[in-house]
Amino acid sequence: MSDTDQPPQSETLRTPIVAVLGHVDHGKTSLLDKVRGSAVSEGEAGAITQHIGATAVPLETVSSMAGSLVDPDDFDLPGLLFIDTPGHHSFSTLRSRGGALADIAILVVDVNDGFQPQTVEALDILKRTGTPFVVAANKVDTTPGWNPQDGSPIKPSYDGQSDRARQMLDTNLYEIIGQLSDEGLSADLYWRVQNFQKNIGVIPVSALTGEGIPDLLAVLMGLSQRYMKAEMAVDIAGPGAGTVLEVKEERGFGATLDVVLYDGTVREGDTIVVGGTNGPIITEIRALLQPQPLAEIRTEKRFERVDEVKAAAGVKIAAPDLDAAMAGAPVRVVRSRDTDEVIRDVQAELAEIEVNTEEEGVVVKADTLGSLEAMANALKEAEIPILRAEVGDVAPRDVAVAGTAREDEHKVILAFNVDILPNAEDELDHSEVKLFDDDVIYQLIEEYEEFVDERKRAQQ
Ligand code: GDP
Repeated sequence: MSDTDQPPQSETLRTPIVAVLGHVDHGKTSLLDKVRGSAVSEGEAGAITQHIGATAVPLETVSSMAGSLVDPDDFDLPGLLFIDTPGHHSFSTLRSRGGALADIAILVVDVNDGFQPQTVEALDILKRTGTPFVVAANKVDTTPGWNPQDGSPIKPSYDGQSDRARQMLDTNLYEIIGQLSDEGLSADLYWRVQNFQKNIGVIPVSALTGEGIPDLLAVLMGLSQRYMKAEMAVDIAGPGAGTVLEVKEERGFGATLDVVLYDGTVREGDTIVVGGTNGPIITEIRALLQPQPLAEIRTEKRFERVDEVKAAAGVKIAAPDLDAAMAGAPVRVVRSRDTDEVIRDVQAELAEIEVNTEEEGVVVKADTLGSLEAMANALKEAEIPILRAEVGDVAPRDVAVAGTAREDEHKVILAFNVDILPNAEDELDHSEVKLFDDDVIYQLIEEYEEFVDERKRAQQ
């Protein structure tokens, strides 16, 4: 057996990482708030733990929130870790080794509104990354006549409604199931689903009243325990591996990384390799920071220092030389391994995300590697060639590069969720280059396509 074939020294089941996706205003934030809020109101010590960028709900809390639906004796996974930033944008940013960082996702769909463009976008991302997910059919409290009876689970109260209300809700729920089927996915109301890996469970919920949340938690726990246990087995004492959620300036620390750790342990003093805009950064962890417990939040200090953090968790890493680190990039602890080998791993992971560029095309700027990749995929589908694609704000150099395109319709910068540096604005004013700027990918591409169509019409 070679070294790399050695079984892990200390295999432990880590917490599954859960992301929330869906169209704007369908209730992603409310759902996360409700889960956190109901956990806290369960009143247990340690009902939730606030991390950087994520919230951990331990199994005991999940169980007391889900009542009879989750018997803690049936589970050996430690609970659920919810990523705090909802939306498919953060979901596609958070990747690990070519897949999604989140192990499971909740796709939130407003029952009254059904599928919307960002629902479809989110579905495409979930399909591409092969992420198991459930659908939370949200806002059931707004269905006319909806009168949830006390207590959960939702199914009995659903059955107990007036015929008319039930019919209306049925129609909307079946519409969602039909829309999933149009996307090539087999789905059903969750209580009829036998195998959540094969069939997508649709769970009626209300982020407002909390109806259906116990059922949602029970399905998430069951799905993780039954089908994902093998992926949750990690070498917990081994060198940590994570993904940069954000690069943030923090007073007294300089540039810091908000990281979601999905494997191993990070310790203060560890040498880490991080993906940066100018290649891998090698640095040493100066401090590991977590949010202050709520009771102490009024003190000046927002963070408390910890010696080490174990997967799965969110943590802020303070270290020198992090200015050029990229959101979405991998972070690896070196520890006993060969630094060059870890650098090669990080480079290999970054290369997977590299965008194919051509001799002629548009310039693309995006805020993270994940969104750059999502942009590149969307442009490829729309058959729009890319001359250059980079993470970062729009700089004067981008205007110069876009100006070198031969076709006028390619003298364009497509900027997704980034700022325009002031001197780049000056450059734009004095050039033929056009800038399109949006924080929704399909809108950005639509705007550009409209511009191309208008130009074509004008020329005819
Ligand atoms: P997001 O954009 O997907 O994060 O959506 P938000 O959580 O911000 O919710 C958008 C709006 O819908 C807000 O006004 C919420 O109060 C409302 N909302 C969210 N969930 C529910 C629900 O279950 N029932 C009702 N009636 N309103 C909801």
